[in-house]
Amino acid sequence: KIAPVVDELGARFDRAGHEIALVGGPVRDILLGRGSKDLDFATSARPDDVQRLLTGWADHVWDIGKDFGTIGCRKGDWVLEITTYRSESYDPTSRKPEVAYGDTLEADLARRDFAMNAMAVLLPSHRFVDPYGGLEDVANKAIRTPGSPEDSFSDDPLRMMRAARFAAQLAFTPDPAVVAAMTAMAERITIVSAERVRDELVKLVCAPYPRIGLDLLVSTGLADHVLPELPALRLELDEHHRHKDVYQHSLTVLDQAIDLEPRLGEEVELPDFVVRFAALIHDIGKPRTRKFEGDGKVTFHHHDVVGAKLARKRMKALRFSNEQIDQVGKLVELHLRFHGYGTGEWTDSAVRRYVRDAGPLLTRLHVLTRADSTTRNRRKADALRAAYDDLEQRIARLQEQEELDAMRPDLDGNQIMEILGI
Ligand code: ATP
Ligand code: MG
Repeated sequence: KIAPVVDELGARFDRAGHEIALVGGPVRDILLGRGSKDLDFATSARPDDVQRLLTGWADHVWDIGKDFGTIGCRKGDWVLEITTYRSESYDPTSRKPEVAYGDTLEADLARRDFAMNAMAVLLPSHRFVDPYGGLEDVANKAIRTPGSPEDSFSDDPLRMMRAARFAAQLAFTPDPAVVAAMTAMAERITIVSAERVRDELVKLVCAPYPRIGLDLLVSTGLADHVLPELPALRLELDEHHRHKDVYQHSLTVLDQAIDLEPRLGEEVELPDFVVRFAALIHDIGKPRTRKFEGDGKVTFHHHDVVGAKLARKRMKALRFSNEQIDQVGKLVELHLRFHGYGTGEWTDSAVRRYVRDAGPLLTRLHVLTRADSTTRNRRKADALRAAYDDLEQRIARLQEQEELDAMRPDLDGNQIMEILGI
C-alpha cells in the first residue's frame, strides 16, 4: 500500500526528469505490515533541485540536512526526507562519514546498513528493488549486511549498535556472521561519537523488546564500551553466598517497568526512556559495594548512593541532557527508600518527605519501586504490593488534605459560627 502522497511526489520528480524511490525504513515497514508517517526517499536530483521541487508543493520545507544531501518537508500529516543518492567514501579513522553524491540507486543501496534497509520502490513505476535479499530477511526475521559485516562495520561501527537496536525493535535475529563481526570488532565502537551511540541506545531501550538488544550488547562485548556497568552486574554466584544474579534481575525489573509504564498516563510521552533506563541500571552500585559478611550473607551498603553517582557519570559521558541525568540519578538514589515501609512505621511526615524528595518524579518512582519487587515468593510479592498500595493511598489522602487546607479560609471559630448563624 503506497500512500497517494508518495505517488504525487514521484510524478513531480519524474516530470522534472529525476529518478526517485521510496527507500529504507518505510519500505521495510510496509512489508512488516506497519505504516509510518515518516517517509524516506533517495533521488538522483541534487539538493538544490530537490529543494526547488518541494517548495510550492509541500506545506513546509527545511534544509538543515542539506550538507548531507537531505531536504525535509511536511505535507499534511506526512514528514518526508529526500536524500540525494550517495556513494559514501569512508575514512575508517574518522568519526563522521564523509558525503559523496552518487548517480545510481544501486550504489546508494549498497552503502546501507542492512539488507532489510536496502530495499526501494522506484517511482512512479512501483518497481520493487531488492538487490540483497531484504524481503527474504524480513520473512525470516534476519538481520544481515549487504556485503561482508566486517567491511560494513569498519566503514561505520555504529552499525553494530544499530543491529542491536533493530533486534530490540523488531525481534529480529542477527545473522551469526553479523554477531561474529560485532564480537570481533566491538572495540571499534569507541571511535563513534557519544551522541550517535546515545541515540541508538535510547531507541534500543525504548523498543518493544529491549532485553533482546541488551543481551546482544552484553554478549558481543559492545556493552563493555558503551555501558560497562551493565555487564558488571553479572556477579559471579558462588555456592556459599546465594543471591540473585543482578544482571538477570535488572532485565526483569526493566520488563516489569515496561508493563507498569501505562501508570505514567498523560504525565510523559510513552515509551519513557527515563523510567526504563532507571529500571535497567537501578542496581549498578551493587558490584562496587558488595561485601561478604562471613555468615553467608552479602551486603551492598549504600549501593543506591554509589549507583546514582555511577549513573550520572555514565550518562554524562554519553552526552545525555542534564535534565535526564538528574531524573535517572534521582530515581536510582531513591529506589530503596520504600524499603522499610509496610511495617506501618512511616509517620505522616515520613510520607510527606518521600513525596517531597521524589518531586515531579513521584509516579516514575512508584513504577520503579513496584517493578523492583521481583521476588518469586508469591506471599512476599503480594505483601509488597499491598504495602505499596497502602503507601499510595496515604499519599493521596495527604495530598487531598493539603489541598483542603490550602482552600480553607483563615477564619477563627467565632467567625465561622457567625457566618453559619450558630
Ligand atoms: P527508524 O526511523 O524507524 O528508526 P530507519 O530504518 O528509518 O528506522 P534511520 O536511522 O532513520 O532508520 O535511517 C534511515 C535509513 O538510512 C536506514 O533504513 C538505512 O537504510 C540508512 N542508514 C541509516 N543509518 C545508517 C548507517 N549508519 N549506515 C548505513 N546506512 C544507514
Ligand atoms: Mg527513519
